[in-house]
Amino acid sequence: MRGRGERLERVLAERELDRMLVTDLTNVRYLTGFTGTNGACICGPGERLFLTDFRYTERAAAEVEGWEPITVAGDWLGAIAERLRGRFGFEDDHMPVRMLEKLGEKLADGAEPAPAGGTVEKLRRVKDDEELAAIAEASKLADEVWRWSVERGLAGKSEREVARGAEARIRELGGDPSFPAIVAAGPNGALPHAEPGERPIGRGELVVFDMGAQLDGYCSDGTRTYATGDPGERGRAVYETVLAAQLASLEAVKAGVTGEDVDAVARKIIDEAGHGEHFGHGLGHGVGLEVHEGPRLSPKSDDVLAPNEVVTVEPGIYLPGELGVRIEDFVVVSEDGYRNLSALPKELTLVD
Ligand code: ZN
Ligand code: ZN
Repeated sequence: MRGRGERLERVLAERELDRMLVTDLTNVRYLTGFTGTNGACICGPGERLFLTDFRYTERAAAEVEGWEPITVAGDWLGAIAERLRGRFGFEDDHMPVRMLEKLGEKLADGAEPAPAGGTVEKLRRVKDDEELAAIAEASKLADEVWRWSVERGLAGKSEREVARGAEARIRELGGDPSFPAIVAAGPNGALPHAEPGERPIGRGELVVFDMGAQLDGYCSDGTRTYATGDPGERGRAVYETVLAAQLASLEAVKAGVTGEDVDAVARKIIDEAGHGEHFGHGLGHGVGLEVHEGPRLSPKSDDVLAPNEVVTVEPGIYLPGELGVRIEDFVVVSEDGYRNLSALPKELTLVD
């Protein structure tokens, strides 16, 4: 966690804030290392305060580094309020209105809250070496589970059986699923966020298999679409279009381009194949402590990619009532390109 408080402190100066109150637990974890369920931190010039309650005193001592630990007994908001001075940022995108009101009642004269939601999230976009290592490990674990799942065969099993099996395997290997695995075969594949169902997977179907592992708090996210035998001419054509869009938009990833630019590369290829209306989601998103975070790759995203951001590239084509194909890698952005964290092949793979 070293250096993260310093990065936040620099942003505060740019935004003319005297301090920042961080209450979102993922952001608190990012800054301090704390993994418990009640904590907050206050960052100011040369000031690093971490507050929790007695249940977490020991955990804080073990996990929190570089922040002064404070155990609050009794009035939680009062303890926070008495440490806030001047114009302080707070996370208006996370803090409940009622909590802000109560905090406001307890503030000292001259302490003034300023909405600063998204500040820590923006820092989180760029990963340090420790984070990149955790993400790469999570990715490796997930790749292993795809191989394992495919070896055991898909046809004849229900989507749910395959999904639950993969999640159990992730846990056996020491991780957690970063979200409930999606296994969507045949017509279900046309629903980008399908819930795995009980229908047995048939032969000659395309199977969208989207999953991720979480290790040390960090997530992976990827999708492969497999075919349980020849998916037919239309299925193959859709697959090749998605693959072409995925490869081309991957090549557009590098520092300095916007999320909109990268998205447009995939969208153009899918449009030209006549499937513009069948690609109804953004091209990708950042991944880190959360499986969906900044930056966004989408038609409206003016996020500019920076080195060491981790983003997914996941075009898809969804033909209602018929089939779906999505191919998703996740990659580390570099100055002149990217490093792919997904090692699985992307050519159409026929499986049992
Ligand atoms: Zn994704
Ligand atoms: Zn995914």
